[in-house]
Amino acid sequence: MAFTAIHPEYGRIDATLGNLGCGLDWSQVHRVRPRINLTCPECEWGVHAKHSSRGLRFFAHNAKRPADCQLSNESVEHHLLKLELATAIRQAGWYAELEVRADGGSWRADVLASSLDGTRRMAWEAQLSAITVEELRERTARYLDEGIGVCWVSPRGEVPWLSSVAAVRVTAPKEDSHVWTVADGLAKFMPRLGSWVRVSDIDLTTFVRWALKEQVTPHTILPRYRRVRLKPEGNLSRRSLCWASPKSTAAESRHEQMRSRQDEQKKRRQERERVEQELKLLEEKARKEEEERRRSIEREAEAEKARERLQAQRDQWEADRKERLARAEEQRRIEEERARKAEQARLAQERHEREAATRWWSELSGEQWQDLLAAIGEFSAQERAGKAYPDKQGVDAEYAFGVPVMARRGLYGIARPSPESVKNWNAYYRLRIFVRNQREADLITAQGVDPTLVVHFDLPDFEQLNLC
Ligand SMILES: [Zn+2]
Repeated sequence: MAFTAIHPEYGRIDATLGNLGCGLDWSQVHRVRPRINLTCPECEWGVHAKHSSRGLRFFAHNAKRPADCQLSNESVEHHLLKLELATAIRQAGWYAELEVRADGGSWRADVLASSLDGTRRMAWEAQLSAITVEELRERTARYLDEGIGVCWVSPRGEVPWLSSVAAVRVTAPKEDSHVWTVADGLAKFMPRLGSWVRVSDIDLTTFVRWALKEQVTPHTILPRYRRVRLKPEGNLSRRSLCWASPKSTAAESRHEQMRSRQDEQKKRRQERERVEQELKLLEEKARKEEEERRRSIEREAEAEKARERLQAQRDQWEADRKERLARAEEQRRIEEERARKAEQARLAQERHEREAATRWWSELSGEQWQDLLAAIGEFSAQERAGKAYPDKQGVDAEYAFGVPVMARRGLYGIARPSPESVKNWNAYYRLRIFVRNQREADLITAQGVDPTLVVHFDLPDFEQLNLC
């Protein structure tokens, strides 16, 4: 079916217009005899005027039409939408032409709207079948090249290209209504929400009027606002294009400026914070360096103190060493003195003992000495030690100024040691001591000599007295 046809005399006629667009009445083409030779503007096949049971007027192709005629292949729904668009355009006070083809064939509009003064044109495309975004853009570009605006209108449930070209999604009238509604593609900017919100309750006639009068225009949404709310409190849908009023686009622009200012302020604040942070870091660094410098000075002072302490310690050690040396020197001197005195005492003792020994021996005559030796010899013989005899060295200072007496087995005893010199006899010699008589033995033992070591004979002290 088609709403337009080519009349052999009047040219293009339009079934949607009361006068068919050329001053003819419907009755002049519908069921007239002889039959008028009407043709399809698309395929040039013969068509005839017809109307539906509800009174919708159209042109139907005659039998054996070409299979590829787009007009004849379009669905009833497609035609109804075109008719609705044409009606809305005419209600807005514009011309509406259906199924119009460009002279060069670069486009074919479902409905072409033209302003009364002929300065503006806008194509309205009822797009029911699936189509790619690329094809839509290409066709849109072809219209724009000739200064023709375009709006794609689809009654499909899902319209994937809604945000890619200037388009709206519409819903067909419900059973009890004749009103087509724009369900999607139109939006208003709500500054309160800082967001675009879809408008889905505008009837198609109103939308067409607004679009023609540029009360709404295709608007490329600023990047910041491309998450469009489907309802004020509803879900979000990503969109880059919508139909919008100048008021909304201005509101978006103002909001964008505000957000830019906020961004700028935020950036400035961040920059200020960054600078402050940097300053703080620098101050912190300087503080640490100062701290380090102070510590370094303290450490140096500590080290200096330690050096001083060490030096004091060394001085103390040196003083101590000198004192020790002095004390040692003093000690040595005392020792020397003591040794010297001891030596003097020893020499005095020795001298004394020698003098005592000299006196001791001077008491004795040669005969007395011979008597004593004879008594010792007798004694040793009795002891079966052999006859004892004096060592030829005579008086020996080594044996307390006595005379060593030899027998068969060597040293047999000491004859007559000096009583002044026998003090340590028990400890040193424990040799037998031979003296002349009890008096001499008493002199010896009076010095502490073990009496068992002392052997005496009853030899007279004073020979001279006996002689007298
Ligand atoms: Zn045709």
